[in-house]
Amino acid sequence: MTIAENLNLIKQNLPDNVTLVAVSKTKPVADLMEAYNAGQRVFGENKIQEMTEKWQQMPKDIEWHMIGHVQSNKVKYMVPYVKLIHGVDSLKLLKEINRQAVRWRKTINCLLQIHIAEEETKFGLNEKELDELLNSEEFKSFTNIKVVGLMGMATFTDNQTQIKREFDHLKAIFDTYKQLDTPNLKLETLSMGMSGDYQLAIACGSTMVRIGSSIFGSR
Ligand SMILES: *Cc1c(COP(=O)(O)O)cnc(C)c1O
Repeated sequence: MTIAENLNLIKQNLPDNVTLVAVSKTKPVADLMEAYNAGQRVFGENKIQEMTEKWQQMPKDIEWHMIGHVQSNKVKYMVPYVKLIHGVDSLKLLKEINRQAVRWRKTINCLLQIHIAEEETKFGLNEKELDELLNSEEFKSFTNIKVVGLMGMATFTDNQTQIKREFDHLKAIFDTYKQLDTPNLKLETLSMGMSGDYQLAIACGSTMVRIGSSIFGSR
């Protein structure tokens, strides 16, 4: 199957309200161009340098999403062009994103990453940390960021019941905070689901799926 065929197959079964992020990390520009020529305009990368190199080489009507863990000292490199940062998991990082966004006179859209998996290794805030962050005076003082949603990754397991429980948990948190509407907080996007679990994620309420290997092949 070609990249275009893989994409079309996935898109056929995607509800209208779900955005497909084509996760192109480690893949060459030629592969991304094949997806682009098949109509794909949203790409996800997890390393800033790689994303910047691809941004320079690719057409400029692409939305670039940073889906990986972000270090504060790297924020300045992507602020000029990044459309959405998925993995924001601290006030410190938000502060730096805001600082760089002010410098560029931009507003940067962010998703807060929530820790829903059992694994210790995955990044993300727990519910208490999320609550503290959103209620802090410092967060309210940020003028150039907008938290537009939440992101999470389920445990890497074949146990569908467990994955569903984790997705349901994230959806419940999303629904709790969805009602809030302040200048820099309005949850509209729920980013959950990857190649192995995106259909389940959509059934649980995902509005944005991040799919790599099912489009571009294994890495
Ligand atoms: C790599 C990655 C994906 C895509 O994973 P696939 O299993 O290849 O679809 C999605 N989200 C994040 C955060 C990733 O790092």
